[in-house]
Amino acid sequence: MTRQVQALVVGGGISGLVCAYALRKARIEAELVEASSRLGGVINSVTRDGFLLELGPQSFSGTAALRQLCADLGISGQLLEAPPRAPRYVLIDGALQAVPMGPAALFSNSLIDGGTKWGIVRDIFGKSVPPDADESVATFIRRKFSAQLLDRLVGPFVSGVYAGDPEKLSLRSAFPQLYEAEKSSGSIVRGMFRNAKAKKGPRERVTLNTFRDGNESLVRAIGNHLGTALRTQTGVTGISMRDGGDFEIQLESKNKQDSVSAQALILCTPTNMTGTLLGQLDSQFAALLNSVEYAAVAVVSLGYRKSDVGHSLDGFGFLVPRSAGVRVLGTVWNSSLFPGRAPEGQALLTSFVGGATDPAASKLAPEEHSALVHREISPLLSICHEPVFSNVTIWPRALPQYNLGHMDRLSRIAGLQTQFPGLYLAGNYLRGPAIGSCVEQALAVAENIRANLAR
Ligand SMILES: Cc1cc2nc3c(=O)[nH]c(=O)nc-3n(C[C@H](O)[C@H](O)[C@H](O)COP(=O)(O)OP(=O)(O)OC[C@H]3O[C@@H](n4cnc5c(N)ncnc54)[C@H](O)[C@@H]3O)c2cc1C
Repeated sequence: MTRQVQALVVGGGISGLVCAYALRKARIEAELVEASSRLGGVINSVTRDGFLLELGPQSFSGTAALRQLCADLGISGQLLEAPPRAPRYVLIDGALQAVPMGPAALFSNSLIDGGTKWGIVRDIFGKSVPPDADESVATFIRRKFSAQLLDRLVGPFVSGVYAGDPEKLSLRSAFPQLYEAEKSSGSIVRGMFRNAKAKKGPRERVTLNTFRDGNESLVRAIGNHLGTALRTQTGVTGISMRDGGDFEIQLESKNKQDSVSAQALILCTPTNMTGTLLGQLDSQFAALLNSVEYAAVAVVSLGYRKSDVGHSLDGFGFLVPRSAGVRVLGTVWNSSLFPGRAPEGQALLTSFVGGATDPAASKLAPEEHSALVHREISPLLSICHEPVFSNVTIWPRALPQYNLGHMDRLSRIAGLQTQFPGLYLAGNYLRGPAIGSCVEQALAVAENIRANLAR
Protein backbone atom coordinates (compact mmCIF):
# COMPACT_ATOMS: atom_id res chain seq x y z
CA MET A 1 0.00 0.00 0.00
CA THR A 2 1.26 3.51 -0.78
CA ARG A 3 2.25 5.40 2.35
CA GLN A 4 0.77 8.86 2.83
CA VAL A 5 2.50 11.99 4.08
CA GLN A 6 1.25 15.56 4.28
CA ALA A 7 4.31 16.97 2.53
CA LEU A 8 7.24 15.41 0.68
CA VAL A 9 10.37 17.51 0.16
CA VAL A 10 12.67 16.33 -2.61
CA GLY A 11 16.39 17.23 -2.47
CA GLY A 12 18.57 17.54 0.61
CA GLY A 13 20.54 20.63 -0.36
CA ILE A 14 20.14 23.70 1.83
CA SER A 15 16.83 24.64 0.14
CA GLY A 16 15.17 21.29 0.82
CA LEU A 17 16.61 20.92 4.30
CA VAL A 18 15.40 24.32 5.46
CA CYS A 19 11.98 23.81 3.89
CA ALA A 20 11.51 20.41 5.58
CA TYR A 21 12.77 21.80 8.89
CA ALA A 22 10.35 24.76 8.78
CA LEU A 23 7.42 22.54 7.80
CA ARG A 24 8.03 20.18 10.71
CA LYS A 25 8.45 23.13 13.06
CA ALA A 26 4.97 24.21 11.90
CA ARG A 27 3.76 20.70 12.89
CA ILE A 28 3.26 19.57 9.32
CA GLU A 29 4.11 15.93 8.79
CA ALA A 30 6.87 16.44 6.21
CA GLU A 31 9.49 13.99 5.00
CA LEU A 32 12.60 14.67 2.96
CA VAL A 33 14.22 12.39 0.39
CA GLU A 34 17.75 12.90 -0.94
CA ALA A 35 19.14 10.88 -3.83
CA SER A 36 22.77 10.78 -2.75
CA SER A 37 24.29 9.25 0.37
CA ARG A 38 25.16 12.64 1.87
CA LEU A 39 23.16 15.76 2.62
CA GLY A 40 24.04 19.31 1.68
CA GLY A 41 24.12 19.28 -2.15
CA VAL A 42 26.92 21.64 -3.16
CA ILE A 43 27.69 22.49 0.49
CA ASN A 44 30.50 20.10 1.30
CA SER A 45 33.15 20.58 4.01
CA VAL A 46 36.03 18.12 4.12
CA THR A 47 39.07 17.78 6.41
CA ARG A 48 42.23 16.47 4.77
CA ASP A 49 45.88 16.59 5.90
CA GLY A 50 44.98 19.18 8.57
CA PHE A 51 43.22 21.50 6.08
CA LEU A 52 39.50 22.25 6.43
CA LEU A 53 38.29 22.55 2.84
CA GLU A 54 35.06 23.87 1.46
CA LEU A 55 34.50 22.07 -1.84
CA GLY A 56 31.57 24.35 -2.77
CA PRO A 57 30.62 27.65 -1.09
CA GLN A 58 33.44 29.05 1.05
CA SER A 59 31.29 31.15 3.40
CA PHE A 60 27.89 32.83 3.52
CA SER A 61 26.27 36.13 4.46
CA GLY A 62 24.86 35.98 7.97
CA THR A 63 21.37 37.20 7.16
CA ALA A 64 18.78 37.67 9.92
CA ALA A 65 16.93 34.49 8.84
CA LEU A 66 20.12 32.44 8.90
CA ARG A 67 21.09 33.72 12.34
CA GLN A 68 17.62 32.88 13.64
CA LEU A 69 17.87 29.40 12.12
CA CYS A 70 21.24 28.85 13.81
CA ALA A 71 19.76 30.01 17.13
CA ASP A 72 16.79 27.61 16.75
CA LEU A 73 19.16 24.74 15.98
CA GLY A 74 21.44 25.62 18.91
CA ILE A 75 24.51 26.13 16.73
CA SER A 76 24.99 29.92 17.03
CA GLY A 77 28.03 29.27 19.23
CA GLN A 78 29.75 27.50 16.31
CA LEU A 79 29.40 30.49 13.97
CA LEU A 80 32.60 32.24 12.94
CA GLU A 81 32.64 35.74 11.49
CA ALA A 82 35.25 37.01 9.05
CA PRO A 83 37.00 40.27 10.05
CA PRO A 84 34.44 42.85 8.85
CA ARG A 85 37.02 45.23 7.45
CA ALA A 86 39.15 42.61 5.70
CA PRO A 87 40.16 44.30 2.44
CA ARG A 88 39.14 42.80 -0.88
CA TYR A 89 41.44 43.16 -3.84
CA VAL A 90 41.06 43.32 -7.57
CA LEU A 91 43.78 42.62 -10.13
CA ILE A 92 44.49 45.81 -12.10
CA ASP A 93 47.51 46.30 -14.37
CA GLY A 94 49.17 43.17 -13.00
CA ALA A 95 48.93 44.14 -9.31
CA LEU A 96 46.38 43.63 -6.53
CA GLN A 97 44.61 46.85 -5.63
CA ALA A 98 42.29 47.25 -2.63
CA VAL A 99 38.63 47.69 -3.57
CA PRO A 100 37.26 50.92 -2.06
CA MET A 101 34.83 50.19 0.78
CA GLY A 102 31.89 52.53 0.28
CA PRO A 103 30.91 55.31 -2.15
CA ALA A 104 33.19 58.04 -0.71
CA ALA A 105 36.27 55.82 -0.97
CA LEU A 106 35.28 54.83 -4.50
CA PHE A 107 35.05 58.47 -5.48
CA SER A 108 38.48 59.42 -4.21
CA ASN A 109 40.10 56.29 -5.68
CA SER A 110 42.13 56.03 -8.88
CA LEU A 111 40.61 52.62 -9.65
CA ILE A 112 37.93 54.31 -11.72
CA ASP A 113 38.43 57.19 -14.14
CA GLY A 114 36.78 60.62 -14.40
CA GLY A 115 34.20 59.39 -16.91
CA THR A 116 32.96 56.75 -14.46
CA LYS A 117 32.87 59.27 -11.61
CA TRP A 118 30.89 61.62 -13.81
CA GLY A 119 28.45 58.76 -14.49
CA ILE A 120 27.92 58.39 -10.74
CA VAL A 121 27.32 62.15 -10.33
CA ARG A 122 24.87 62.05 -13.26
CA ASP A 123 23.06 59.16 -11.59
CA ILE A 124 22.81 60.95 -8.23
CA PHE A 125 21.46 64.23 -9.62
CA GLY A 126 19.81 63.07 -12.83
CA LYS A 127 16.94 60.86 -13.80
CA SER A 128 16.97 57.79 -16.02
CA VAL A 129 14.36 55.23 -16.99
CA PRO A 130 15.14 51.52 -17.47
CA PRO A 131 14.17 50.09 -20.86
CA ASP A 132 11.02 47.95 -21.07
CA ALA A 133 12.94 45.01 -22.49
CA ASP A 134 15.12 42.82 -20.28
CA GLU A 135 18.58 44.42 -20.13
CA SER A 136 21.89 42.66 -19.49
CA VAL A 137 24.07 43.67 -16.54
CA ALA A 138 26.79 44.74 -18.98
CA THR A 139 24.48 46.96 -21.07
CA PHE A 140 23.07 48.51 -17.90
CA ILE A 141 26.47 49.36 -16.43
CA ARG A 142 27.71 50.81 -19.73
CA ARG A 143 24.48 52.83 -20.14
CA LYS A 144 24.56 54.23 -16.61
CA PHE A 145 28.28 54.42 -15.83
CA SER A 146 31.12 53.13 -18.01
CA ALA A 147 32.78 50.17 -19.68
CA GLN A 148 35.63 50.61 -17.22
CA LEU A 149 33.40 50.09 -14.18
CA LEU A 150 32.03 46.97 -15.85
CA ASP A 151 35.49 45.58 -16.49
CA ARG A 152 37.20 46.50 -13.23
CA LEU A 153 34.55 46.05 -10.56
CA VAL A 154 31.15 44.84 -11.75
CA GLY A 155 32.39 41.99 -13.98
CA PRO A 156 34.61 40.53 -11.21
CA PHE A 157 31.76 40.89 -8.70
CA VAL A 158 29.42 39.07 -11.09
CA SER A 159 32.02 36.27 -11.37
CA GLY A 160 32.13 36.10 -7.57
CA VAL A 161 28.38 35.63 -7.17
CA TYR A 162 27.15 33.86 -10.31
CA ALA A 163 30.37 32.79 -12.06
CA GLY A 164 28.36 34.53 -14.75
CA ASP A 165 28.77 36.47 -17.97
CA PRO A 166 27.55 40.09 -17.48
CA GLU A 167 26.76 40.28 -21.22
CA LYS A 168 24.16 37.53 -20.71
CA LEU A 169 22.97 38.00 -17.12
CA SER A 170 19.66 39.79 -16.79
CA LEU A 171 19.85 42.84 -14.52
CA ARG A 172 16.27 42.57 -13.28
CA SER A 173 16.68 38.85 -12.46
CA ALA A 174 20.23 38.79 -11.12
CA PHE A 175 20.28 42.17 -9.33
CA PRO A 176 16.61 43.13 -8.86
CA GLN A 177 17.46 45.82 -6.25
CA LEU A 178 19.37 47.82 -8.89
CA TYR A 179 16.60 47.50 -11.44
CA GLU A 180 13.96 48.49 -8.88
CA ALA A 181 16.06 51.44 -7.67
CA GLU A 182 16.24 52.96 -11.15
CA LYS A 183 12.60 52.16 -11.89
CA SER A 184 11.27 53.70 -8.68
CA SER A 185 13.65 56.65 -8.24
CA GLY A 186 15.23 57.28 -11.65
CA SER A 187 18.60 56.81 -9.96
CA ILE A 188 20.47 53.82 -8.60
CA VAL A 189 22.08 55.70 -5.69
CA ARG A 190 18.91 57.55 -4.64
CA GLY A 191 16.79 54.41 -5.08
CA MET A 192 19.12 52.26 -3.01
CA PHE A 193 19.18 54.87 -0.21
CA ARG A 194 15.40 55.11 -0.30
CA ASN A 195 14.99 51.32 -0.12
CA ALA A 196 17.45 51.08 2.78
CA LYS A 197 15.58 53.81 4.67
CA ALA A 198 12.20 52.18 4.00
CA LYS A 199 13.31 48.90 5.58
CA LYS A 200 11.69 48.41 8.97
CA GLY A 201 13.62 47.49 12.11
CA PRO A 202 17.28 48.01 12.94
CA ARG A 203 19.73 48.09 10.04
CA GLU A 204 21.04 44.59 9.33
CA ARG A 205 24.80 44.32 9.73
CA VAL A 206 26.22 42.38 6.80
CA THR A 207 28.60 39.69 8.04
CA LEU A 208 30.48 36.92 6.34
CA ASN A 209 30.25 33.63 8.21
CA THR A 210 31.10 29.98 8.37
CA PHE A 211 31.09 27.48 11.23
CA ARG A 212 34.01 26.29 13.31
CA ASP A 213 33.83 22.89 11.56
CA GLY A 214 32.84 24.27 8.14
CA ASN A 215 29.66 25.24 6.31
CA GLU A 216 28.35 21.70 6.49
CA SER A 217 27.64 22.12 10.22
CA LEU A 218 24.35 23.77 9.30
CA VAL A 219 23.44 20.84 7.07
CA ARG A 220 24.33 18.30 9.76
CA ALA A 221 22.34 20.16 12.42
CA ILE A 222 19.20 20.22 10.28
CA GLY A 223 19.74 16.57 9.29
CA ASN A 224 19.97 15.55 12.97
CA HIS A 225 16.85 17.50 13.73
CA LEU A 226 14.90 15.79 10.94
CA GLY A 227 15.92 12.33 12.21
CA THR A 228 13.70 9.59 10.78
CA ALA A 229 11.78 12.12 8.62
CA LEU A 230 14.85 12.07 6.37
CA ARG A 231 15.88 9.40 3.87
CA THR A 232 19.18 9.57 2.00
CA GLN A 233 20.03 7.35 -1.00
CA THR A 234 16.40 7.76 -1.99
CA GLY A 235 15.77 9.43 -5.33
CA VAL A 236 12.47 10.45 -6.84
CA THR A 237 12.04 8.82 -10.24
CA GLY A 238 8.44 9.64 -11.14
CA ILE A 239 5.49 11.84 -10.26
CA SER A 240 1.82 11.46 -11.15
CA MET A 241 -1.46 12.92 -9.94
CA ARG A 242 -4.05 10.91 -8.06
CA ASP A 243 -7.78 11.53 -8.17
CA GLY A 244 -8.44 14.08 -5.45
CA GLY A 245 -5.31 16.11 -6.20
CA ASP A 246 -2.64 14.30 -4.14
CA PHE A 247 0.68 13.44 -5.74
CA GLU A 248 1.89 9.90 -6.19
CA ILE A 249 5.69 9.90 -6.04
CA GLN A 250 7.87 7.00 -7.17
CA LEU A 251 11.03 6.49 -5.14
CA GLU A 252 14.11 4.41 -5.77
CA SER A 253 16.30 3.41 -2.86
CA LYS A 254 19.24 1.04 -3.38
CA ASN A 255 17.55 -0.44 -6.47
CA LYS A 256 14.28 -0.96 -4.61
CA GLN A 257 11.12 0.80 -5.83
CA ASP A 258 8.65 2.34 -3.43
CA SER A 259 5.99 5.02 -3.61
CA VAL A 260 4.49 7.62 -1.35
CA SER A 261 1.51 9.92 -1.73
CA ALA A 262 1.61 13.53 -0.57
CA GLN A 263 -0.78 16.47 -0.35
CA ALA A 264 2.11 18.89 -0.90
CA LEU A 265 5.13 18.14 -3.06
CA ILE A 266 8.14 20.45 -2.82
CA LEU A 267 10.84 20.01 -5.44
CA CYS A 268 14.18 21.44 -4.28
CA THR A 269 16.28 19.84 -7.03
CA PRO A 270 18.36 21.52 -9.77
CA THR A 271 16.42 22.57 -12.87
CA ASN A 272 17.36 19.58 -15.06
CA MET A 273 15.99 17.10 -12.48
CA THR A 274 12.98 19.30 -11.68
CA GLY A 275 12.28 19.53 -15.44
CA THR A 276 12.56 15.76 -15.92
CA LEU A 277 10.20 15.05 -13.02
CA LEU A 278 7.63 17.74 -13.82
CA GLY A 279 7.80 16.91 -17.52
CA GLN A 280 5.78 13.83 -16.50
CA LEU A 281 2.94 16.18 -15.50
CA ASP A 282 3.29 18.68 -18.36
CA SER A 283 6.01 18.67 -21.02
CA GLN A 284 6.17 22.48 -20.96
CA PHE A 285 7.78 22.31 -17.52
CA ALA A 286 10.67 20.32 -18.99
CA ALA A 287 11.24 22.76 -21.85
CA LEU A 288 11.23 25.80 -19.56
CA LEU A 289 13.33 24.35 -16.75
CA ASN A 290 15.88 22.76 -19.07
CA SER A 291 16.49 26.09 -20.76
CA VAL A 292 18.13 27.48 -17.59
CA GLU A 293 21.88 27.49 -18.30
CA TYR A 294 24.43 26.56 -15.64
CA ALA A 295 28.07 27.62 -15.33
CA ALA A 296 30.73 25.03 -14.56
CA VAL A 297 33.26 25.95 -11.88
CA ALA A 298 36.45 24.28 -10.63
CA VAL A 299 37.23 24.92 -6.95
CA VAL A 300 40.99 24.66 -6.48
CA SER A 301 42.32 24.67 -2.91
CA LEU A 302 46.08 25.00 -2.56
CA GLY A 303 48.05 24.89 0.68
CA TYR A 304 51.37 26.72 1.01
CA ARG A 305 53.95 27.15 3.74
CA LYS A 306 53.42 30.72 4.96
CA SER A 307 57.16 31.30 4.68
CA ASP A 308 56.86 30.61 0.92
CA VAL A 309 54.28 33.40 0.44
CA GLY A 310 55.69 36.94 0.18
CA HIS A 311 52.27 38.65 0.33
CA SER A 312 50.81 39.39 3.77
CA LEU A 313 47.51 37.70 2.80
CA ASP A 314 45.84 40.30 4.96
CA GLY A 315 42.32 40.34 3.59
CA PHE A 316 39.47 38.44 2.01
CA GLY A 317 41.18 37.61 -1.27
CA PHE A 318 41.00 38.95 -4.80
CA LEU A 319 38.87 38.98 -7.93
CA VAL A 320 40.12 39.16 -11.51
CA PRO A 321 38.66 41.26 -14.36
CA ARG A 322 38.35 39.21 -17.54
CA SER A 323 40.52 41.75 -19.36
CA ALA A 324 43.51 40.73 -17.16
CA GLY A 325 44.08 37.66 -19.34
CA VAL A 326 44.19 35.36 -16.30
CA ARG A 327 41.96 32.27 -16.12
CA VAL A 328 41.56 32.32 -12.32
CA LEU A 329 38.30 34.14 -11.55
CA GLY A 330 39.25 34.89 -7.97
CA THR A 331 40.96 33.54 -4.87
CA VAL A 332 39.71 33.41 -1.28
CA TRP A 333 42.36 33.52 1.46
CA ASN A 334 40.55 31.03 3.72
CA SER A 335 43.14 30.86 6.48
CA SER A 336 43.22 34.67 6.78
CA LEU A 337 39.46 34.81 7.32
CA PHE A 338 38.73 31.96 9.70
CA PRO A 339 40.80 30.01 12.23
CA GLY A 340 41.37 26.27 11.85
CA ARG A 341 41.46 26.18 8.05
CA ALA A 342 45.14 25.19 7.71
CA PRO A 343 47.82 23.57 9.89
CA GLU A 344 50.08 25.89 11.91
CA GLY A 345 52.52 27.78 9.68
CA GLN A 346 50.55 27.06 6.48
CA ALA A 347 48.02 29.00 4.41
CA LEU A 348 44.96 27.78 2.52
CA LEU A 349 44.00 29.64 -0.66
CA THR A 350 40.97 28.61 -2.69
CA SER A 351 40.65 29.72 -6.31
CA PHE A 352 37.83 29.44 -8.82
CA VAL A 353 38.35 28.66 -12.50
CA GLY A 354 35.81 28.48 -15.33
CA GLY A 355 32.42 30.10 -15.06
CA ALA A 356 30.20 31.22 -17.91
CA THR A 357 32.99 33.17 -19.62
CA ASP A 358 35.41 30.20 -19.75
CA PRO A 359 33.35 27.01 -20.29
CA ALA A 360 36.38 25.13 -21.71
CA ALA A 361 38.04 25.19 -18.28
CA SER A 362 35.73 22.46 -16.96
CA LYS A 363 37.42 20.04 -19.40
CA LEU A 364 40.83 20.43 -17.73
CA ALA A 365 42.08 17.56 -15.56
CA PRO A 366 42.44 18.22 -11.81
CA GLU A 367 46.30 18.31 -12.07
CA GLU A 368 46.00 20.89 -14.87
CA HIS A 369 43.77 23.03 -12.66
CA SER A 370 46.25 22.91 -9.75
CA ALA A 371 49.16 23.75 -12.05
CA LEU A 372 47.26 26.59 -13.75
CA VAL A 373 46.19 28.18 -10.46
CA HIS A 374 49.67 27.89 -8.95
CA ARG A 375 51.22 29.39 -12.11
CA GLU A 376 48.77 32.31 -12.17
CA ILE A 377 48.61 33.25 -8.48
CA SER A 378 52.32 32.79 -7.65
CA PRO A 379 53.50 36.07 -9.20
CA LEU A 380 50.55 37.98 -7.69
CA LEU A 381 51.21 36.76 -4.15
CA SER A 382 55.01 36.41 -4.41
CA ILE A 383 54.88 32.67 -3.85
CA CYS A 384 58.30 31.08 -4.27
CA HIS A 385 57.62 27.34 -3.91
CA GLU A 386 55.20 24.67 -5.08
CA PRO A 387 52.09 24.11 -2.93
CA VAL A 388 52.35 21.51 -0.17
CA PHE A 389 48.72 20.52 -0.64
CA SER A 390 46.17 20.53 -3.43
CA ASN A 391 42.52 19.62 -3.84
CA VAL A 392 40.36 20.15 -6.93
CA THR A 393 36.58 19.81 -7.21
CA ILE A 394 34.94 20.33 -10.59
CA TRP A 395 31.24 21.23 -10.54
CA PRO A 396 29.92 20.78 -14.12
CA ARG A 397 26.64 22.47 -13.11
CA ALA A 398 27.78 24.76 -10.31
CA LEU A 399 25.51 27.79 -10.56
CA PRO A 400 22.30 28.55 -12.46
CA GLN A 401 22.57 31.57 -14.72
CA TYR A 402 19.89 34.25 -14.37
CA ASN A 403 20.32 35.13 -18.05
CA LEU A 404 18.17 37.36 -20.25
CA GLY A 405 14.62 36.01 -20.28
CA HIS A 406 14.94 34.38 -16.86
CA MET A 407 12.09 36.32 -15.29
CA ASP A 408 9.78 35.51 -18.18
CA ARG A 409 10.74 31.83 -17.88
CA LEU A 410 10.01 31.83 -14.15
CA SER A 411 6.64 33.50 -14.59
CA ARG A 412 5.68 30.91 -17.22
CA ILE A 413 6.71 28.13 -14.82
CA ALA A 414 4.62 29.77 -12.08
CA GLY A 415 1.70 29.90 -14.55
CA LEU A 416 1.96 26.15 -15.20
CA GLN A 417 2.23 25.51 -11.47
CA THR A 418 -1.24 26.94 -10.88
CA GLN A 419 -2.68 23.83 -12.59
CA PHE A 420 -1.18 21.73 -9.80
CA PRO A 421 -2.18 23.11 -6.42
CA GLY A 422 0.04 21.44 -3.84
CA LEU A 423 3.14 21.65 -6.07
CA TYR A 424 5.91 23.95 -4.81
CA LEU A 425 9.41 24.76 -6.04
CA ALA A 426 12.44 25.95 -4.10
CA GLY A 427 16.09 26.18 -5.10
CA ASN A 428 18.91 28.40 -6.15
CA TYR A 429 17.52 29.22 -9.63
CA LEU A 430 14.53 31.14 -8.25
CA ARG A 431 15.36 34.01 -5.88
CA GLY A 432 19.16 34.18 -5.85
CA PRO A 433 21.92 31.57 -5.64
CA ALA A 434 23.43 32.65 -2.29
CA ILE A 435 22.85 30.35 0.68
CA GLY A 436 21.03 33.19 2.50
CA SER A 437 18.64 33.64 -0.46
CA CYS A 438 17.97 29.88 -0.63
CA VAL A 439 17.18 29.86 3.10
CA GLU A 440 14.81 32.82 2.83
CA GLN A 441 13.04 31.33 -0.15
CA ALA A 442 12.69 27.90 1.48
CA LEU A 443 11.21 29.51 4.61
CA ALA A 444 8.74 31.48 2.49
CA VAL A 445 7.66 28.33 0.63
CA ALA A 446 7.18 26.48 3.93
CA GLU A 447 5.06 29.34 5.25
CA ASN A 448 2.97 29.33 2.08
CA ILE A 449 2.36 25.58 2.43
CA ARG A 450 1.44 25.98 6.09
CA ALA A 451 -1.11 28.67 5.20
CA ASN A 452 -2.57 26.62 2.32
CA LEU A 453 -2.86 23.40 4.33
CA ALA A 454 -4.58 25.28 7.15
CA ARG A 455 -7.34 26.47 4.79
C1 LIG B 1 31.45 26.35 -6.27
C2 LIG B 1 30.35 27.08 -5.59
C3 LIG B 1 30.64 28.19 -4.79
C4 LIG B 1 29.61 28.86 -4.15
N1 LIG B 1 29.92 29.90 -3.32
C5 LIG B 1 28.96 30.45 -2.54
C6 LIG B 1 29.30 31.36 -1.49
O1 LIG B 1 30.48 31.66 -1.27
N2 LIG B 1 28.29 31.88 -0.73
C7 LIG B 1 26.98 31.52 -0.93
O2 LIG B 1 26.11 32.03 -0.22
N3 LIG B 1 26.64 30.65 -1.91
C8 LIG B 1 27.59 30.09 -2.70
N4 LIG B 1 27.25 29.16 -3.65
C9 LIG B 1 25.83 28.93 -3.95
C10 LIG B 1 25.11 28.03 -2.96
O3 LIG B 1 26.01 27.18 -2.29
C11 LIG B 1 24.06 27.18 -3.68
O4 LIG B 1 23.28 27.98 -4.55
C12 LIG B 1 23.11 26.47 -2.71
O5 LIG B 1 23.85 25.78 -1.73
C13 LIG B 1 22.20 25.54 -3.50
O6 LIG B 1 21.35 24.82 -2.63
P1 LIG B 1 20.10 24.02 -3.19
O7 LIG B 1 19.55 23.24 -2.06
O8 LIG B 1 19.16 24.96 -3.88
O9 LIG B 1 20.66 23.05 -4.33
P2 LIG B 1 21.69 21.85 -4.27
O10 LIG B 1 22.75 22.10 -3.28
O11 LIG B 1 22.09 21.59 -5.68
O12 LIG B 1 20.83 20.60 -3.75
C14 LIG B 1 19.96 19.86 -4.56
C15 LIG B 1 19.86 18.44 -3.97
O13 LIG B 1 18.89 17.69 -4.69
C16 LIG B 1 19.32 16.33 -4.76
N5 LIG B 1 18.60 15.63 -5.82
C17 LIG B 1 18.74 15.79 -7.16
N6 LIG B 1 17.88 14.97 -7.82
C18 LIG B 1 17.17 14.30 -6.88
C19 LIG B 1 16.13 13.33 -6.94
N7 LIG B 1 15.63 12.87 -8.12
N8 LIG B 1 15.62 12.82 -5.79
C20 LIG B 1 16.10 13.28 -4.58
N9 LIG B 1 17.10 14.18 -4.47
C21 LIG B 1 17.62 14.71 -5.60
C22 LIG B 1 20.81 16.49 -5.01
O14 LIG B 1 21.52 15.29 -4.73
C23 LIG B 1 21.16 17.64 -4.08
O15 LIG B 1 21.55 17.20 -2.81
C24 LIG B 1 28.26 28.45 -4.32
C25 LIG B 1 27.97 27.34 -5.13
C26 LIG B 1 28.99 26.65 -5.75
C27 LIG B 1 28.67 25.43 -6.57
